[in-house]
This record gives sequence, C-alpha cells and structure tokens, in this order.
Amino acid sequence: MNPIYMDNNATTRVAPEVLEEMLPYFSDLYGNPSSMHTFGGNVGSTLKKARENVAGLLGALPEEILFTSCGTESDSTAIHAALRSNPEKKHIITTRVEHPAVKNLGEYLANNGYRVTFVPVDRDGRLDEDFLYKSLSDDTALVSVMWANNETGTIFPVEKIARKVREWGIVFHTDAVQVVGKIPMNLADSAIDMFSLSGHKLHAPKGIGVLYVRKGTKFAPFLMGGHQEGGRRAGTENTASIIGMGRAARLVVDSMEDENTRVRALRDKLEKELLKRIPASMVNGDPENRLPNTTSIAFEYVEGEAILLLMDQHGICASSGSACTSGSLEPSHVLRAMGVPFTAAHGTIRYSLSIYNTEEEVDFVIEKMPPIIERLRRMSPFWKEGQIS
Ligand SMILES: *Cc1c(COP(=O)(O)O)cnc(C)c1O
Repeated sequence: MNPIYMDNNATTRVAPEVLEEMLPYFSDLYGNPSSMHTFGGNVGSTLKKARENVAGLLGALPEEILFTSCGTESDSTAIHAALRSNPEKKHIITTRVEHPAVKNLGEYLANNGYRVTFVPVDRDGRLDEDFLYKSLSDDTALVSVMWANNETGTIFPVEKIARKVREWGIVFHTDAVQVVGKIPMNLADSAIDMFSLSGHKLHAPKGIGVLYVRKGTKFAPFLMGGHQEGGRRAGTENTASIIGMGRAARLVVDSMEDENTRVRALRDKLEKELLKRIPASMVNGDPENRLPNTTSIAFEYVEGEAILLLMDQHGICASSGSACTSGSLEPSHVLRAMGVPFTAAHGTIRYSLSIYNTEEEVDFVIEKMPPIIERLRRMSPFWKEGQIS
C-alpha cells in the first residue's frame, strides 16, 4: 500500500523525471567530468547544464553555484567560510529556531571561542528583528537566518534583514532549504551573500546540496583537495545527483504555481477541517507569512508520538516536530522558543504536503484524525484536567 505522505518537510519523493535523467550516469555514462577524454568530458558538459539550471532557478550566475553533499554541508561550509575569511571577528548572529544543521554548529562555536547570539521569536514564531539589529557589531563575522522554518513553515523577512546586515559590511547567509520551489526568488537583486539548499527537499535525491556564494564574497573552502567546484569544494562530483538536481530545478520552476494554488488550498482545507472537528486544537506559527504546504497543529493534552503511531496504522505519514527531534520526548526547540505551552507542544503534528498529494488523501486524513485524538484523550489524565480548567 502506498503511504499517504504528508511529511515533505522531512524529505520528498524523487520525481520520476529526475530519476530517469539520472539513471544513465550510474551505468553507461560513468566518466569522470574532469578527465581529458571525450567520454568524461561529455559528462562534464551535462554537469555544466545542470549548474545553469540551478542558477536559473535562483536567479544566480552558474559560477555562484557550488554542489555539496547535503543541506547540512552547505550550512556548515557557509558558516566556516565566513569565520575563516574574517579571522579577527569572533561574533555570530543566528536564531533560536534554526534547523539543527545551524543550531548545533552555533552551539559548538559558542563553546569554542565565539560569541553567538541566538535571536528570539515571539509566540507566533516571528523573529525579533530589533533584537537582531541591536546585536550587530564590528566584531560580527556572519548573520545566518533561515528563510522558512521547517517545523512551522513560518517565513522570515530575510531580504530585509540581509539589506540591513549589508550596511554593516557583514556576511549574510540563509538556510533556504524549505523555500526553494515554494516562493519565487531572484538572488541577483538580493543582498543575500550565501544561501543553502538541499536536493531531497525538492524531489531530487538525498545526498546532494547546493551552496550559493555571491560573486565577490570572501570564501574559504571547507573540503580541501582537488580543483572541483572551482577549488571551493573538493571531491569528485556526484554526477548523477547533480544532473538530478538540475532536472529538479527545472521541475520546481514549473510546479511553483501548483504549490501556491492547489497545494495551498489542500493545506488550508486540511487545517480548517481539523481545527473545526477537533476541540482544543490550534495552529503553531505565523498565520500570514508561511509556506503554502505546511501546517503545524497542536492537539492539546495528547502525545505527538502516540498520535503518529495511530496515524501510521492508517498509512498516514507526518511528523511530530522536526524529523530530528522525534524520537526524543523533549518538545522541539522551535516550539519551546515560541513559548508554546508543554501540553500543546507535546501534541503537535506537522503536516507537510507536496505536489503529489491529492484531495482524496486530504479528505481521508480529515476523516481519520478526529477519532484518533478522541481515543487518546479518553486515556489521558491531562485531558480531564484541561476540560475543567
Ligand atoms: C532538511 C533541512 C536541512 C538539512 O538538509 P540535509 O540535506 O538533510 O542535510 C537544513 N535546513 C533545513 C531548514 C531543513 O529542512
């Protein structure tokens, strides 16, 4: 049985068109793109086109695109590059709601000689911009703010922040893994210096990422070795995946409209019906500025893990927070940063849709969720308390 997959912020299905374009590079076309012979050189020419496609999607120049192994590597590379090319500066600004790829590196740096400011958010997940601007100093090497949050879908005004940061001559990086293919962008007109994306969040395979580095940005490589990626990221190219990424870039340009109309309408229907049918439920995050595919709903007085297990019996896949926090019983750092009460944070489910979801699937989930929550609440001592208070 095919799952009803509503966990697209954790990973997405590889588009059939992407897979098809990749397959020859696992068999007949195995040449090394750096080789002098035509056999390898042909692969090199296809890589060049893939790079141009990705650049086209972002409004960037091909030479501003670096292929990496994942979103995490792109984030790490950006942060290390900014620190190593500004060695006299010992301060970094980021937020309290970043993906662990940035958050955990920030915490590591805070324990290893850097001063790290984690900018707070309000109850709706909106960033305290004034706090950020007041934290800028001559000692700041980098500001890294995610474009959209993977757990709640809340979108931050990164373009505005990037412009203010630029006035200080400070490097601005954004983890844009969740926004690519969902909102249009043109990095040529932007003040963003570095920008991370990940293939498996946009229907390309796992194990391929992109780091955009604006021309003229001071850069130091993270992986040193060969001359690949203009000497900025050594290691023989992951040819099949880069080609898949190029195909996915063209696909998401075509599907952005569907994301923002049909997928958005499906998400809105799912959310509206669940809130209507299930008492003591609420949406986490900014209701205005958010991704079209994501809704994070707190079902108070029940355990997210228990909800997921019962959903799983119907083949429904979702997440109780970010994929990286599920498995531990601590509420996610994002919901804690927003000050979501524990009784609500624990019962939060994130539904994240994609262009492959259908109205039938949404209707199925709308039908199955209320009895799941009701059943768990009947077993929950907190629910009775909740009803009284
Ligand atoms: C998934 C994700 C990442 C990590 O990407 P990987 O390719 O899995 O390393 C980073 N940031 C955000 C916002 C994500 O959603």
